[in-house]
Amino acid sequence: MSNKRLPEAGVPKAVLARRAQRRRYYWDNKALCQAQVRRRRYGITSQEYDKIYVAQKGCCAICGVHQSDHTRALNVDYDHATDDVRGLLCGGCNSGIGRLQDSAELCMKAAEYLQRHADRR
Ligand SMILES: [Zn+2]
Repeated sequence: MSNKRLPEAGVPKAVLARRAQRRRYYWDNKALCQAQVRRRRYGITSQEYDKIYVAQKGCCAICGVHQSDHTRALNVDYDHATDDVRGLLCGGCNSGIGRLQDSAELCMKAAEYLQRHADRR
């Protein structure tokens, strides 16, 4: 028998039922919930998101891959210092620039590094 505890072990049934209810509500009202998160977290309305989406032709602002080729909606990318929205990015690109500390200099150095090694092929 495994020592692993189930995530819901010890959690009252009422709490589990409330979580399930929230999950159902989210999936039944996904667009509304996503709009609420964008407004609360990034300060943009659905119309503003859609405007950026159309301007980017539904593609990630970095890799250019269309939303339909990703499993999740494009992320709102913002400047962490000013909270200004910069654009929409796929999860991979958003994580990538985040791991490079949103630094243009580090991204350039990474590109130069990759190019230097690609030139050896
Ligand atoms: Zn991308």
